[in-house]
Amino acid sequence: MSTDKVADLLERNKELSKSYKRPPLLGEGLEKRKKTGAKGTVIISCADPRITPEHFLGLNFGECAIVRNGGGRTSDAIRSILDLDALGAMGTIVVIHHTDCGMTYLTEKEFSDRTEEKHPDFAGTHPGFDYGAIHDPEKTVVADVEYLKSFPSLAEKMTIAGLVLDTFTGELKRLI
Ligand SMILES: [Zn+2]
Repeated sequence: MSTDKVADLLERNKELSKSYKRPPLLGEGLEKRKKTGAKGTVIISCADPRITPEHFLGLNFGECAIVRNGGGRTSDAIRSILDLDALGAMGTIVVIHHTDCGMTYLTEKEFSDRTEEKHPDFAGTHPGFDYGAIHDPEKTVVADVEYLKSFPSLAEKMTIAGLVLDTFTGELKRLI
């Protein structure tokens, strides 16, 4: 097997593409939703490879849009939320933070210091950048939902919930 990760991934895709079935066209789904008035759901979750909403939520293929970033922070996901809603109305946003999250391993200052060291070109041109460190996921998930709800157009039109996944038990707890 190749030690090159990209080559490895391409090789795996080559195998899998042999049995690939194309999904329904996006445009058809959007049209259908427009006619029935059905609204979409978007899950905001962490980029951690161990945290896969498809699995711990038992999602069906194509059921929810999923936006993942470091920590599942909503300030980072807002562009995708707005874009998804522009394409086809969204009705529910579920924000999920989790225990043992990488974003709790460093403080905001440590993220900032390390970035200054490793990527001075970025840090130098982005003073005061929000790296999104998490101290307590039960608090940040509430703050992140409140951030979304601070926009009345989102708060009035959508159900916005904040959950924390306990990575030790696999259970979700709703905080807001
Ligand atoms: Zn995480």
